[in-house]
Amino acid sequence: MVYITFLQTETDASLRGASRCPAPGRADRRVAADMTEPEPSCRGRRVMASDESAAAPLRPTIAVVGSGPSGCYTAQFLRKDLPEAEITIFEALPVPYGLVRYGVAADHQGTKAVAAQFDRMFVRSDITFVGNTSIGIDIAPEAITDAFDVVVVATGLTRDRRLSVPQDENARVIGAGRIIRSLNAFPAAAAPAAAALTEPLGSELIVVGHGNVAIDVVRLLTKPDSLLTGSDIDDDALKLLRPQPPTAVHVIGRSAADAAKFDLAMLRELCTLKNLRIDVEGLDSTATGPVADLLRQTVCAYRGDTTTAVTLHFQTVPAAVRVEGARTVLDVLGPTGTPSSYAGDTVITAIGFCHDGDDCGDASPSWVGEHVYRVGWLERGGRGNIAENRKHAQRAAKTIVDDLATGRLQGGRRRGLTTVLPELRHWTGFDGWQAIDDSERRDAGPRRCRRKITNLEDMLAIAHRNHDVTDDA
Ligand SMILES: Cc1cc2nc3c(=O)[nH]c(=O)nc-3n(C[C@H](O)[C@H](O)[C@H](O)COP(=O)(O)OP(=O)(O)OC[C@H]3O[C@@H](n4cnc5c(N)ncnc54)[C@H](O)[C@@H]3O)c2cc1C
Repeated sequence: MVYITFLQTETDASLRGASRCPAPGRADRRVAADMTEPEPSCRGRRVMASDESAAAPLRPTIAVVGSGPSGCYTAQFLRKDLPEAEITIFEALPVPYGLVRYGVAADHQGTKAVAAQFDRMFVRSDITFVGNTSIGIDIAPEAITDAFDVVVVATGLTRDRRLSVPQDENARVIGAGRIIRSLNAFPAAAAPAAAALTEPLGSELIVVGHGNVAIDVVRLLTKPDSLLTGSDIDDDALKLLRPQPPTAVHVIGRSAADAAKFDLAMLRELCTLKNLRIDVEGLDSTATGPVADLLRQTVCAYRGDTTTAVTLHFQTVPAAVRVEGARTVLDVLGPTGTPSSYAGDTVITAIGFCHDGDDCGDASPSWVGEHVYRVGWLERGGRGNIAENRKHAQRAAKTIVDDLATGRLQGGRRRGLTTVLPELRHWTGFDGWQAIDDSERRDAGPRRCRRKITNLEDMLAIAHRNHDVTDDA
């Protein structure tokens, strides 16, 4: 039986410096197109028949599932220590980088710029992007664990954690992650379980949670359009969700001000918005620390014309969500245990993320095997920013390298990408992402840095068209 293997034919340095070569996706597509012919590749690899493979060095085959920061950083660290490894990143969407694209707020382009670093990784480091391939839907997890020596699962957490208090089923309760995904132009067809948002959130909002995501959602929903210049916010979604800025936002959190989870920088940024009047409830007169200090200054500062009154409630615990007429009401226990209620149009929950199962349970039980590793939000329960997940990825990569070095794991036993590629009918490569990226930047409206494509079919048409054009050329 003829089968395919990869043989490294050039030095690692020449692999990395091959700037004249097409993007990795292009080279790998050629492998997919003609699997049985020996094929020279300017990325330093050629595809060979099995009888030539006797001299091939044992080359670990590594699958990373999920192209968010955790997956990309793990691949990057692995590449440093394992220059000979075959590394493939599988991604459910045709576009990479997970929450960098669909979580990080649209007005935080500095943070989103980490995507450029990952772009360079794909172009220079001989790491293959297999997009539009959801493991578990397009191919079974077992097929991946059977085909690769090492499997890194970095699929993140997609679902907003539900508030665990009694809730009227007619109450309007929406997760902050869902709202921010929408403002980040997430393609609704990619998350059929979470129906697209189709109505304005309303003029009085109650946000539950005192983390950075809560502050993100308050800022994005109240920030004047003039201050969104340079962002890639989805203007249609913004217009739909907030035709006008809300008049009142209550932000409810259990902790005291000095234990609030949001970063001081996030609060500071919110406090610079001149259209907000910021008030505080539940701030102890004895509370110390930078958050308390900043809040005291902000609350006392003169505000000119304000569009929105934002009240931060500390030491306030949600008790129930109910409906009163057309309003959704959040019952709470205040700092001294006194019950009170806030009525609004929508309760927005920003209390973390969990697995996509009905009960937030682990939705990925199929990932079993001594050679399976989990990184990032998936493993850490939705905790940590990009920098913290980079460290986690670094530790995971070190464990994998050590396991290969000590023989706990055997490299070169499973044939990797060539085994699974024939099963994947609709995958898109890194060149597909580059074509989408170019198109989005070209179509950016006035004062926006890109207009993201929200329709999955349109994305795929661009990705596949690019493939056809380059192949025909
Ligand atoms: C609203 C919001 C704002 C944030 N803002 C910031 C910020 O300003 N600064 C900061 O440092 N951090 C921020 N974070 C945190 C940061 O986004 C996370 O730390 C980071 O994205 C976690 O990376 P990850 O790779 O573990 O998960 P993710 O980024 O979620 O990546 C997971 C990837 O796996 C893919 N995937 C899932 N299932 C499958 C499957 N079955 N098959 C193939 N692929 C799959 C997903 O499509 C996704 O691309 C924010 C998070 C949120 C939610």
